[in-house]
Amino acid sequence: MSHMRFRTNVAPIRRSQESRIGIRPHPLPGIAETVLAERPSVPLHCLRPATLRHAAERFVGLFPGQVLYAVKCNPEPAVLRALWAGGVRHFDCASAGEVRLVRQMFPQARIHFMHPVKARAAIREAWEWHGVRDFVLDSAAELTKILEETSGSFADLGLVVRLALPKGSAVYDLSGKFGAEPAEAVRLLRLARSVAARVGLCFHVGSQCLDPESWRRALELAGDVIAQSGVELDILDIGGGFPVSYPDVTPPPLEDFIAAIGTGLARLALPAYTEVWCEPGRALVAPAGSVVVRVEARRGDTLFINDGVYGSLSDAGVPGFRFPCRLIRASGPAPSSELVPFSFFGPTCDSADRMKGPFLLPADTREGDWVEIGQLGAYGTCLRTAFNGFDQAVMVEVRDQPLLETPGYCRIERAA
Ligand SMILES: *Cc1c(COP(=O)(O)O)cnc(C)c1O
Repeated sequence: MSHMRFRTNVAPIRRSQESRIGIRPHPLPGIAETVLAERPSVPLHCLRPATLRHAAERFVGLFPGQVLYAVKCNPEPAVLRALWAGGVRHFDCASAGEVRLVRQMFPQARIHFMHPVKARAAIREAWEWHGVRDFVLDSAAELTKILEETSGSFADLGLVVRLALPKGSAVYDLSGKFGAEPAEAVRLLRLARSVAARVGLCFHVGSQCLDPESWRRALELAGDVIAQSGVELDILDIGGGFPVSYPDVTPPPLEDFIAAIGTGLARLALPAYTEVWCEPGRALVAPAGSVVVRVEARRGDTLFINDGVYGSLSDAGVPGFRFPCRLIRASGPAPSSELVPFSFFGPTCDSADRMKGPFLLPADTREGDWVEIGQLGAYGTCLRTAFNGFDQAVMVEVRDQPLLETPGYCRIERAA
């Protein structure tokens, strides 16, 4: 098991005798062969570095500006390394912990502190120790806080005003929490202009936003605010929210979003020196991660599995995401070729630890089978908790294609 390492962010790291950090076999193993050989009794987190690198290259190639990776989405060092290899050099961090992690890994990275409400100690640490120069704000109080904690050294301070957007069409609407209303944003832009070396405006349309027009509309609103403020922007940041596919959702291609953003930007006629930024999270990493769970029991069309909404499957809970699944069976008869809908229960004693799906699996799925659950590279591994003692997991880097892009992903794996 030299290519595996035990990890958890919620309990002391458990290591196996065989695990050795940093040593990867070449070529990387496949998921099915790993499961059949290792028969994991805890969730197996599978990471596809080639998929990550490719997604980063594609985004960086298409976007007309700087691509900031939203670190919160998946801060796993192997993920950051693969994105760096794909050309990502800017990182959107929201806490001192994220800033430290990125700086430790990449001395050359440009780190931007994009949380509108920061701890004073976090601002100071980011500024003094980690070379962070750009900070987001959505209130005058936060502006004062940033100025105080960066000791008035305004020579290279960047201040980016977060604009509130009206409630949009994203699956995760984020309009309720952050952002200055347009009139306040105008006031903040002028204030920022008087004290900072660089001034920007940013917004976030919400996560898994399926409509390219959302960005065009947001840019229109941003244009009104910019015009009213009379401030010439150094930075315009159009946020994250780019969607990925799930079994019941096929979003428009990334090119359509880039085109809508291009149209919106052209209408603003920004000065040539204005940098355009974006902050994708999900779109860069979701297809690269999956989790292999074990079926501990079956009752009718419900499977009790060893991961759940307190683990890496919270999006399968109340948000009701349907993830692609495939069965991996190590021994016994070949699984049925008939696929039927199942729902899942997670391992904790909370009845809210339920995932209604439906998830399509072979009709004879049974205790002792494994299920690979795909499209979990974003907001999966990083949301795990230690609730009820289910905090162990194993991680492996693999060479597989994303599950959704594997022809006939409902296909069943079985030992020879
Ligand atoms: C979470 C977040 C992102 C990333 O969102 P995705 O939907 O994963 O692309 C980007 N910017 C901000 C400010 C965020 O809070």
